[in-house]
Amino acid sequence: MITRTIPAVQAKAPQEPRSAPAGDWQRQLREAIRQPRDLLAAVGLDARWLAGAQLGHEAFEVRVPHAFMARMRHADPNDPLLRQVLPLAAEGEPVTGFVSDPLEEADHTPAAGLIHKYAARVLMITSGACAINCRYCFRRHFPYAEHTPSRAQWYDTLDYLRGDDTLREAILSGGDPLLSSDARLAWLAQALGEIPHLKRLRLHTRLPVVIPDRVDDALLEWLAASRLQKVMVLHINHPAEIDAAVVQACARLKSAGVTLLNQSVLLKGVNDAATTLAALSERLFEAGVLPYYLHVLDPVAGASHFDVPDERARLLVEALRAELPGFLLPRLVREVPGKPAKTPL
Ligand code: SF4
Repeated sequence: MITRTIPAVQAKAPQEPRSAPAGDWQRQLREAIRQPRDLLAAVGLDARWLAGAQLGHEAFEVRVPHAFMARMRHADPNDPLLRQVLPLAAEGEPVTGFVSDPLEEADHTPAAGLIHKYAARVLMITSGACAINCRYCFRRHFPYAEHTPSRAQWYDTLDYLRGDDTLREAILSGGDPLLSSDARLAWLAQALGEIPHLKRLRLHTRLPVVIPDRVDDALLEWLAASRLQKVMVLHINHPAEIDAAVVQACARLKSAGVTLLNQSVLLKGVNDAATTLAALSERLFEAGVLPYYLHVLDPVAGASHFDVPDERARLLVEALRAELPGFLLPRLVREVPGKPAKTPL
């Protein structure tokens, strides 16, 4: 296992608090930081970080919305939000056991954009991109171009769902499904709602967290209109990700009848402390979100520096169990290729 400690940088004079540019979510998306140099300048880190960041960026590009960046501490390379998005030279070092498709998803695609590996539910890749690029992402090498269907291919996907009456749930994933337009999502939600054996529509998304303005009237309208039960699984790893705008976005989603859950990834240097995980669960619940899963890292090439050994992960959850009521305790799990469900640790 290769690990790398982030070197300290010289302290800099405190700066004025930064705020995200206001406005609609598409503009915020266009204005997201996409160059290592711009990310370092925005968070106040010097050029020593540039060579490593550039190397990582060439394998998996930098993408950080200002609304997320604004929650980072200035000039702190150990900031837990920055660590999730800052490329490091370590990403380019091959590590035994860390591979490009750790979940072997490419083997479970019966139709374009469809991953069917669990009973009663299918995962539909609705968008090939994300609003933020997380360095530990298990799909960072996924060939989205081959699996993101055209509108015409969605008809084949919907036929597949109609033809399997064991299915109960459609999961929109990606990438981030909320990067799709509301017109497209409304069309898809309606088509799914017309399949009688489906009961639930689930969305896996990080957008309400990284650009809370994504939760706008158009989104709430099609969500509220669907006959399906709606579940949104957010992805938040650290309590500092939950600011007032995220709390407000969660409240609006709940008002549209959406059940909110959260999944986190256990990440070295980000949230691998019981105090941090306990604070995360408390903060989630204050925002109306239930902690659902705490995933151990999927062994994807380029992310080994985030790995937390299983034994340490178990100890962390035991410490959490002593602190929190059971309903705030996320389930510690791993995804194992070929297994019909997540594997508890
Ligand atoms: S938002 Fe999710 S899918 Fe997108 S890069 Fe981050 S972890 Fe991966």
